[in-house]
Amino acid sequence: MKTITEKKQGVYTFGAKTADGNRNMKNLLGGKGANLAEMSRIGIPVPPGFTITTEVCTQYNQEGKKATIARIEEEVRAAIAGIEATMGTTFGDNQNPLLLSVRSGARVSMPGMMDTVLNLGLNDDSLQGIIQMTGNERFAWDSYRRFIQMYSGVVLGLKPETKQDLDPFEEIIDHLKDKRGILHDTQFSVQDLKDLVYDFKDIVRKRSGQEFPTDPWDQLWRAILAVFDSWNGERAVYYRKMNGYPEDWGTAVNVQAMVFGNMGEDSGTGVCFTRDAGSGENKFNGEYLINAQGEDVVAGVRTPQQITLLGSKRWAQLAQVTEEERKEKYPSLEELMPVSYRELFEYQRILENHYQDMQDMEFTIQKGKLWILQTRNGKRTGFAMVKIAMDLLKEGLIDKETALLRIDPPKLDELLHPVFDPEALKEAEVVAQGLPASPGAATGQIVFFADEAAKYKYSILVRVETSPEDVEGMHLAKGIVTARGGMTSHAAVVARGMGKCCVSGAGALKIDYKNRTLYAGGHEYHEGDWISINGSTGNILDGKVATREPELSGEFAEVMELADSFARMEVRTNADNPRDAAVARSFGARGIGLTRTEHMFFEVDRIKAMREMILADTVKGRKQALRELLPMQRSDFEGIFRAMEGLPVTIRLLDPPLHEFVPHQLATQKELAEDLHISLASVKSKVAELEEFNPMLGHRGCRLGNTYPEITEMQTRAILEAALNLKKEGITTRPEIMIPLVGTVEEFTQQKAIIDQTASDVFKRRKDTVEYLVGTMVEVPRAALLADRIAEHAEFFSFGTNDLTQMTFGYSRDDSGKFLPVYLAKGILKEDPFEVLDQEGVGQLVKMGTERGRQTRSHLKVGICGEHGGEPSSVEFCHRIGLDYVSCSPYRVPIARVAAAQAVIRG
Ligand code: PEP
Ligand code: MG
Repeated sequence: MKTITEKKQGVYTFGAKTADGNRNMKNLLGGKGANLAEMSRIGIPVPPGFTITTEVCTQYNQEGKKATIARIEEEVRAAIAGIEATMGTTFGDNQNPLLLSVRSGARVSMPGMMDTVLNLGLNDDSLQGIIQMTGNERFAWDSYRRFIQMYSGVVLGLKPETKQDLDPFEEIIDHLKDKRGILHDTQFSVQDLKDLVYDFKDIVRKRSGQEFPTDPWDQLWRAILAVFDSWNGERAVYYRKMNGYPEDWGTAVNVQAMVFGNMGEDSGTGVCFTRDAGSGENKFNGEYLINAQGEDVVAGVRTPQQITLLGSKRWAQLAQVTEEERKEKYPSLEELMPVSYRELFEYQRILENHYQDMQDMEFTIQKGKLWILQTRNGKRTGFAMVKIAMDLLKEGLIDKETALLRIDPPKLDELLHPVFDPEALKEAEVVAQGLPASPGAATGQIVFFADEAAKYKYSILVRVETSPEDVEGMHLAKGIVTARGGMTSHAAVVARGMGKCCVSGAGALKIDYKNRTLYAGGHEYHEGDWISINGSTGNILDGKVATREPELSGEFAEVMELADSFARMEVRTNADNPRDAAVARSFGARGIGLTRTEHMFFEVDRIKAMREMILADTVKGRKQALRELLPMQRSDFEGIFRAMEGLPVTIRLLDPPLHEFVPHQLATQKELAEDLHISLASVKSKVAELEEFNPMLGHRGCRLGNTYPEITEMQTRAILEAALNLKKEGITTRPEIMIPLVGTVEEFTQQKAIIDQTASDVFKRRKDTVEYLVGTMVEVPRAALLADRIAEHAEFFSFGTNDLTQMTFGYSRDDSGKFLPVYLAKGILKEDPFEVLDQEGVGQLVKMGTERGRQTRSHLKVGICGEHGGEPSSVEFCHRIGLDYVSCSPYRVPIARVAAAQAVIRG
């Protein structure tokens, strides 16, 4: 066996249970090459082959073809001889030919970006050898025509001449199908396939002016260089740029012996998993087919059989196949090929132990000899992810840190929301695509107006966009769809807060409110028609699709406990009512980081008093209306404090522009005029007065409290009186009053003075006190710049990164849907900054604001309450810069808890 220390020009062999490389050599051998080497090294029978290194690719780009071939020719020839010896076949032989696969393999997986050639080594002579070896003339000719087509595209560059043209080979295939009156390739006769080979060669001759290369060595060298070239192909370059992968990484080339599972009844091929990818149970499982090629297992033409006897029996039960029929027609591999099965079972055990994770493996049995073609960490559901991580920990295969790192935080969502029945989903038709704004599955009857959500037991609210007026209806609906708006649109934020499934920004939807009609994907839906939405994928589906309640397994709780034992940061929640607060607490929230008080004003009994307040022309009139609102707010706060007993609750003073609260439709304006005994004209003129060119930069945030101090006064009173009432009941509260949208020190101090004065009045009158804090949101860049001065007065900071992102980029939160998708597609932005915190820009302000704040007040408590508080990479950033907590919507609390723990482990 050669060793790595030996100086190599660039060819690393594997197979026959030895290898030059190993799993740690991904940079040199590419991911695939390193993995094949590793499997060989630990004694797994992989078809022998060799990897030409990424360094050779880089040299080739600099030095060209001749120098490259000269450098590695000797090693390649030796490696081919090694493969021939292991396989007992000969490259280019007409009796017992060796066929090869040639594949790319960069250090990171770049799916579909580069090229592959299979069955290399076929020509008119070796074809005869394959026919003899397989006894299957059809297979041999089918492989041959596929090889010519693939090789001609990848290596000879015979592609459609213009965008509009069909692939020349596909054109011939289609023509022949028409002539034969058949639909599928599988229906071609042997003669058809022979004709195709003849026609394909003819095309090559005409298009390239040369014969299709028949010399296997010539085929091989050209294929190797073509794979190198594909590193600089259009697709790969684009992909590299998008992901920031440097050009000089290069790709490796893997050349490997082809093995065939279709050489008769003692051959077969299949896919298997070391554990159940759906449930996570520790059960080896998988499917196979006798006398078949890899593609046949997934193509669904033949019914694949189960590998284990147990799996086979379970399958038969579901498929309603009798035990006799099962044994005869669909025996398990365990029954049919017990020796190969035992070997396979042993290899899956070795591989899982070795990689310390659930493996997804491909194998082929060629004339009774088992080959493992590939192993990789298996994809799995959220449920399986949690169970497998905890099981592997308990089995002693991985430690606590590794178990936590195995959790992909966003996937925890699947454990928290109702999900579509996977079987039902397979049958469903997708009629439109939007953003996956709030995860989960919902099915219901269409309503177009929020106040009609209760019309049906299961309704889906379909809107162009939602506004605060719609909140109640959103609560009642099972799910929400909007045609406009991004991930921080009103619909998205509110839906996530409610844990309600939502698809936003489905631009292709045409909504006709007047005729109560929705047009989507060629369908016309009317009110009451059924649709289904998948908030995890953004799919909008036709009709009813069955859903399933999520099951919270014991392992889920264990993962959370484990996370908390590592995390430094606390996780709070954004909650506006006792129900959301209680849900978040059950998910482990350690307090509330943001209560948006305005959401309470939209409920039927409050909106009237609120509008009265807004429409009042005098301070007296405003105070009168506020007096009506006070008891309602107080009882709201009592409910929230009760749900969060003993934990801190941050309540933000009124924030949105007032025009959001007044009616814009004539009918409701008339109603309001009657209610308030004023003229319709004065309602209209007040509404017109409230209209602003840029409401998000207008009369909102602390600008409201500073112009109408009586609002701040009423809200402070409600908060502190609620706290005092609970104190009487023996319930501890920790109120934190938060002033929004502060940009100058004075804006803060003047509001704080009102709060403190009100507090002292309340305490005097009630002859009792509670402790409270007064802090600020940092969501205007100026506040981050002046954080040291603001911290002289503010007792805590909470970064409102929704507004801070809006104002730092200058992108309107409500209008960014028009250009962000293009920016993302063009790579101008890598991620939606409203979803993933822009660490280098907005993050700099967060970091600087925190540092400056703590210069003045060393123990300043700092958190974040924008949507980013529940996004894993943003949570990790918050940990790194020393924030005390993140706050996110209730259903993201578990995600943030795991992300906070992972931040510590990675740190
Ligand atoms: C923010 O701006 O980040 C924030 C939390 O406030 P809102 O989304 O209510 O403007
Ligand atoms: Mg804000």
